[in-house]
Amino acid sequence: MYYPQEILEEVRLRNDIVDVIKEYLPLKKQGSSHFGLCPFHNENTPSFSVSADKQLYYCFGCGAAGNVISFIMQVENCDFVEAVQRLADRAGIVLPQAEYSPEDARQERLKERLYEIHSAAGRFFYGKLNSPQGAKALDYVNKRRISVSIQKKFGLGFAPNSRDELYRHLKGMGFTVEEMLASGLVMENKQKNGYHDRFYNRLMFPIFDVKGRCIAFGGRIMESGEPKYLNSPETIIFNKKRNLYGLNFARAERKKEIIIVEGYMDMITIYQAGFKNVAASLGTAFSSEHAMLLKKFVSDIILVFDSDEAGERAALRAIPILSDGGFRVKVLQVPDGKDPDEYIKHNGPLEFGKLLINAVSFMEFQIKCARKKYSLNDLEQKMLFTKEAAGLISNLSSPIERDVYIKQVSEETGISMSAVEEEIYNTDKKRSSDFEKESKQRRVRSYTTGAQIKTESLHNARGVLQAQKNIISICCSNSSICRKLIDIVSPEEFRDKVFCSLLKYVYDCCLSGRNAVPADAVNIFADSESQAKAAEVFSVKFDIEDTEELEKALNEEIKLIKRVYLDYLASNASSIEEIQKVIELKKELGSFEFKL
Ligand SMILES: [Zn+2]
Repeated sequence: MYYPQEILEEVRLRNDIVDVIKEYLPLKKQGSSHFGLCPFHNENTPSFSVSADKQLYYCFGCGAAGNVISFIMQVENCDFVEAVQRLADRAGIVLPQAEYSPEDARQERLKERLYEIHSAAGRFFYGKLNSPQGAKALDYVNKRRISVSIQKKFGLGFAPNSRDELYRHLKGMGFTVEEMLASGLVMENKQKNGYHDRFYNRLMFPIFDVKGRCIAFGGRIMESGEPKYLNSPETIIFNKKRNLYGLNFARAERKKEIIIVEGYMDMITIYQAGFKNVAASLGTAFSSEHAMLLKKFVSDIILVFDSDEAGERAALRAIPILSDGGFRVKVLQVPDGKDPDEYIKHNGPLEFGKLLINAVSFMEFQIKCARKKYSLNDLEQKMLFTKEAAGLISNLSSPIERDVYIKQVSEETGISMSAVEEEIYNTDKKRSSDFEKESKQRRVRSYTTGAQIKTESLHNARGVLQAQKNIISICCSNSSICRKLIDIVSPEEFRDKVFCSLLKYVYDCCLSGRNAVPADAVNIFADSESQAKAAEVFSVKFDIEDTEELEKALNEEIKLIKRVYLDYLASNASSIEEIQKVIELKKELGSFEFKL
């Protein structure tokens, strides 16, 4: 934990969740909750609920959930500490120096060391590129007409063709093997008796985070061989889905739009050509995390992809993610089957600039791609194309925009505008009913009562998780039941890490005579995923009035949890004694009965 629990409680109490969320989106009061359009997924009917009593939010559409701190983490795409700082500022609270648990402190130290290793490796590679060993690589860079100042700015380097030069270099600098392995730059060899470098004989591109720290490398092979491009593996400082190559430079331009390309070389050439608001995805499909990251800096995106089939597929995959993220998206396909790098080399920056200006809207691009699949001379195919186009157009929420494309499709196919409209209307209807269904399922899942749980299969994995949630929820709201359960169910029996910590928290509160507060329980966790999971627990209502019913339900849940835990112990037992012990416990469980 980074801050003492009391400070977190104060920050939370002084930032009412309804007030804070209202600064981001309008909320309407409905019963005991407030509802609004979810900021984390695209929707037309509000399924995002905020509870003033519980100080928690929960989206029935996408499952986003948490307390006020989790909300800031999600909406501002920042980490726990940053979110707490923002809210403290908002409420005028002066925060003490953050504290680290021994485990957190160890992680933080390792992170610092990994930044240091990467910057040392970056200098090492850079030096090699400009040494006799790097002659071939430098020749390649010069042939690609990358200027010396750009080479420097991007820190291009060369990983020499020996298997352990970097390893020896880093070792000489005092980095430990553990640190080197954690960086992903060094690997243990197959015989497990030594270490070697991950990258050799490659042109090296340092990858920076938005703060400009080197966090990974991409390497292009110098001779023929596979893979052509190799990236660092994911580490505690590098997550491919949360970084874009060159974004640290692009954001400095402070433009409202950004050009997104596929490769390092494309990114660098476009940057060198004077279009500095450009970044590249790191050899991975565009993700919603990327969209969240960009959301902080830009509102408009121009996707520039190779004009081959793979490029087109990549663009089509990225479009829904970006348009759902609320960006204005345009697509540029470089003509004549060239990639942007080649195009600029042959036609110059000015012509490329013209292409950028003429980039088409994502809808036009999608419809164009759909059209290619059909022969419009054939009646059947013409209908299929119109249906597909209608499906695409239905994603637009603006009636004016819809109209433009309806007209276009109608002119192209000769099918009347009203028929196309009707088709779109039907797609709309189907989609909203699908959404309703999904959302209803979530409502049922989250408000399942003990009585309903019994009808669900108690023996599946979901059953045991649901049972754990119910136990936590009831302990939180009823301290006399909680006191009884403390002696019966131990947190270790909750195999789920989040649920285990939650039960510990609720027990601790009970033992020290405090009330367990759901919104504070969420603060045990520093990552959004665990926070959402914790918040969801408290959206479960376990309100069985009838004591007998409740006793029965609890009995079954406790037994289920214990049975699954014993199975786990049995499958992990390493001695006969342990197995015998499990058998013994199982027998006891047979005659176990929980009394209120
Ligand atoms: Zn949502």
